[in-house]
Amino acid sequence: MRTVFMVAEKPSLAQSIAKILSKGSCSSRKGLNGACSVHEYTGSFMGQNVRFKMTSVCGHVMSLDFIGKYNNWDKVDPAELFSKAPTEKKEANPKLNMVKFLQVEAKGCDYVVLWLDCDKEGENICFEVLDAIQPLMNMSYGNDCTVYRAKFSSITDTDICNAMNRLGEPNRNEALSVDARQELDLRIGCAFTRFQTKYFQGKYGNLDSSLISFGPCQTPTLGFCVERHDKIQSFKPEAYWVIQAKVFKGKDSPLTLDWDRVRVFDRDVGQMFVNMAKTAKEAKVESVSKKEKAKQRPIALNTVEMLRVASSALGMGPQHTMQIAERLYTQGYISYPRTETTHYPENFDLKGTLKQQANSSFWGETVKALLSEGINRPKKGVDVGDHPPITPMRAASENELGIFTFTCLILKCLGYISYPRTETTHYPENFDLKGTLKQQANSSFWGETVKALLSEGINRPKKGVDVGDHPPITPMRAASENELGTDASIPVHINNICQRNYVTVESGRKLKPTNLGIVLVHGYYKIDADLVLPTIRSAVEKQLNLIALGKANFHQVLQHTLDIFKRKFHYFVDSIAGMDELMEVSFSPIAATGKPLSRCGKCHRFMKYIQAKPSRLHCSHCDETYSLPQNGAIKLYKELKCPLDEFELVLWTSGSRGKSYPVCPYCFSNPPFRDMKKGMGCNECTHPSCQHSLNSLGIGQCVECETGVLVFDPTSGPKWRMACNKCNVVVHFFEHAHKVQVSQDSCDSCEASLVIVDFNKTRSPLPDGETQHTGCVFCDPVFQDLVELKHATMRHPMHRAGGARRGRGRGRGRRPVGRGNPKKPKDKMAALAAYFV
Ligand SMILES: [Zn+2]
Ligand SMILES: [Zn+2]
Ligand SMILES: [Zn+2]
Ligand SMILES: [Zn+2]
Ligand SMILES: [Zn+2]
Repeated sequence: MRTVFMVAEKPSLAQSIAKILSKGSCSSRKGLNGACSVHEYTGSFMGQNVRFKMTSVCGHVMSLDFIGKYNNWDKVDPAELFSKAPTEKKEANPKLNMVKFLQVEAKGCDYVVLWLDCDKEGENICFEVLDAIQPLMNMSYGNDCTVYRAKFSSITDTDICNAMNRLGEPNRNEALSVDARQELDLRIGCAFTRFQTKYFQGKYGNLDSSLISFGPCQTPTLGFCVERHDKIQSFKPEAYWVIQAKVFKGKDSPLTLDWDRVRVFDRDVGQMFVNMAKTAKEAKVESVSKKEKAKQRPIALNTVEMLRVASSALGMGPQHTMQIAERLYTQGYISYPRTETTHYPENFDLKGTLKQQANSSFWGETVKALLSEGINRPKKGVDVGDHPPITPMRAASENELGIFTFTCLILKCLGYISYPRTETTHYPENFDLKGTLKQQANSSFWGETVKALLSEGINRPKKGVDVGDHPPITPMRAASENELGTDASIPVHINNICQRNYVTVESGRKLKPTNLGIVLVHGYYKIDADLVLPTIRSAVEKQLNLIALGKANFHQVLQHTLDIFKRKFHYFVDSIAGMDELMEVSFSPIAATGKPLSRCGKCHRFMKYIQAKPSRLHCSHCDETYSLPQNGAIKLYKELKCPLDEFELVLWTSGSRGKSYPVCPYCFSNPPFRDMKKGMGCNECTHPSCQHSLNSLGIGQCVECETGVLVFDPTSGPKWRMACNKCNVVVHFFEHAHKVQVSQDSCDSCEASLVIVDFNKTRSPLPDGETQHTGCVFCDPVFQDLVELKHATMRHPMHRAGGARRGRGRGRGRRPVGRGNPKKPKDKMAALAAYFV
């Protein structure tokens, strides 16, 4: 029997699709990477009985990056990133082992059906999957096509089965357009970001230059916010006068009349009108007209509108909204939520989808009425040809949606998605959203949310109602996130500029630019407005679309765009003083910040320690800045000096329960030996004779990680310890010992360095009042019981890997023996030879 291999974009989608196609009769098992499952069943395919194997990836399999050496910020001129630096595709998440997983599962399969989401990214992933698996699949028989692409817009029985019956081919051009965008973003973004970060890093003490990034999309998004901000700043309110008159008709309450001039800005002119009107005792009706006015029902929902409504009415950020919408899509509640289309295709089954909602407790009655009266055609919108508008595909009840915390959000979202959908088939009068919402106000599930909605107001923005004659007079509002951008990737950009601290989200989900955000945008404007204006980006987007349509050549578009940005980059570098002038106003120069801490090895003057992130040392005499390890405290290390460069050593500590090690400020930024990388402390330094280096203080291979060495911490007494120089393993030993030293000799059985311990007379564990003992920490019977394994508590969550595993590890056996030579060669001549050949 032949095998059909099928791949979806996410594990949950694979499960839903397999369930639909197998009519619930598939058997599932976990894949080798633990994250993806494989669902198997038999059925018919192209007229033959086959075995189906459905699985998934987890988003993109690969990601684009520069090859190794071009990732080194110090060794590469950012200008080289535009053309010279080669790129390669790497596994997007090596931990998932996705390529291996796909290859194992696809081996020996005969056909592949690609069920990735139907947008350009999905198309791109199709080819990532094919690249991984095609060499392992069975050869095609004759000229048979073996690669198929399923096209679908929602996870419903009808849509999925239809897709299976009408399989097509993956679209190479659409995939290429994504490749082009990835490469442009990588090259342009990295070049500008690296240049600015390095340039400003050394200049301002209170500026965290690790935050200065440039993105061809992200920066124009920030530009919008700052532009709004500038307009608000420069707005000058002006006084104006309005005349209102009240007329009485019998005993009825007075009727207020509006002025046909609306307002005047001149006080005297206003007074003149008042004087003219003041004495009048009567008002005469001059004309009466009656006109029927209709308030248009909304157009069908697309992504941008969904994000806008979610933000303005539900207070949900775009990223968050997108996550929820995607989840609803995955579970089959709504159609694919990334679409620009606002028009229902002729053959779309409106009635069928509406029927699904007939029993809803929210709008079931309205829907039933609609179905019996017959539905109106939805308003005409724009058909971009990607997907139908976002539409609910099946009814949701509170029981089904379960999980409490999630429910409120899903319901809010679903309500708003359904709302315009129901509306597009009928006029809004029938649909009393407020009324139906009120009925839910006492629900234990989402009552609080509903009440909040009702009190805050659930009105849609006054769209389409044109009062006609009033000129805008109030100050412009701050830019709110829902007014930005036009494509489904906005959530990502907005999230980026929030995370980079260029804007903060104020109440009402307004975006307020920070000092840094404002300076950056003003600086770009001053140097090259194209870097902030959305015009050049949208021109690039157009080119990318032409690639997707097969009308433009991938390499030409890439080359052309990179040429433009390369020239812009050089101009930017030459004109950076323009940005600098603005920075000077907002940030203090590095020489004016920080406290004197340790001496510079070049000029022997004190360098200043700048505590603000990223913490650094700065020598104002030499005008040099030196990086330090982050997320810990830095202090002077006994005025000891690095033997290589005479810089005074500093001690980095991550807290009392963490690790500490000495650092040479110069060597940390400029590794002295070729087997060292930037960012290594003395506990990783391979200096053959320095008394603070790994060679002098290293004891043995780490008990947990592959590459780490346990290094003795001479500052740790009286709670002596050694810590791994790679992972967060800390080994406590010889508590209360008077003195601990690492010997030159090593253990005969395990090669670990011996330690020399001077115990306190009163607390010595040694027999006959002895106080000194030399032995191997791992093998010596006296020492074994005095050793305890722990894990350092780190401030930064990134370093917490493995922190869950706790326990005591001691003695022989914990340490893997015989796996090659775990420790750096102890032989000093050999070590020296290695460095100086
Ligand atoms: Zn100096
Ligand atoms: Zn040094
Ligand atoms: Zn050193
Ligand atoms: Zn380790
Ligand atoms: Zn030993």
